[in-house]
Amino acid sequence: MRIKTIGRPTHVSLKIVKKAAYFYGKYLIGGGKLFNNIRLTIQFEKVNSEDGDYAYCDWTDDNNNCREFQIGIDRSLSKKEALLALAHEMVHLKQYAKGEMKDIWRPVRMVKWQGERYLHEEMDYWECPWEIEAYGREKGLYFKFLTYMQYGEPESLCRRSKHIKIMSPSKTTSPNPTTTTSNTTEKQD
Ligand SMILES: [Zn+2]
Repeated sequence: MRIKTIGRPTHVSLKIVKKAAYFYGKYLIGGGKLFNNIRLTIQFEKVNSEDGDYAYCDWTDDNNNCREFQIGIDRSLSKKEALLALAHEMVHLKQYAKGEMKDIWRPVRMVKWQGERYLHEEMDYWECPWEIEAYGREKGLYFKFLTYMQYGEPESLCRRSKHIKIMSPSKTTSPNPTTTTSNTTEKQD
């Protein structure tokens, strides 16, 4: 996976961001050909937070075979928020790259998830299975990354602590994937 960044986050170094993206990507996708072919641009910007959004993930090449992605993260997020938001968006990257999720515009806007179609107008953001996966995995990825940074091995902490961790709520969210601004359209559906 090749990673490029644009802009600068306020509270975290670009070096850590790149390390985290690589770690998340490798953990989620594995280290094979798919992982190696992915090109990711991480852009730190002022994300339009009218709907409570702080980050997004767009594919930028081919809807049928996504390999190029842009992840946008609000530059003002704290270090923890930025790394959690990145983890969340990397789950969406994995969903697109593996073909689990696909954006469709015709005849109507919808998302195809694991072969099932979800109409954009009927979607409940919090009930979307791709969001449930992303929210469900972001904290685990984040803590694995912290453990990796501290001990150099992501699983060591997990084996030691089986209890449930209580965490403070995060304001990290992502936009509804159907609001992506990608410029290609569905070709086969
Ligand atoms: Zn999301």
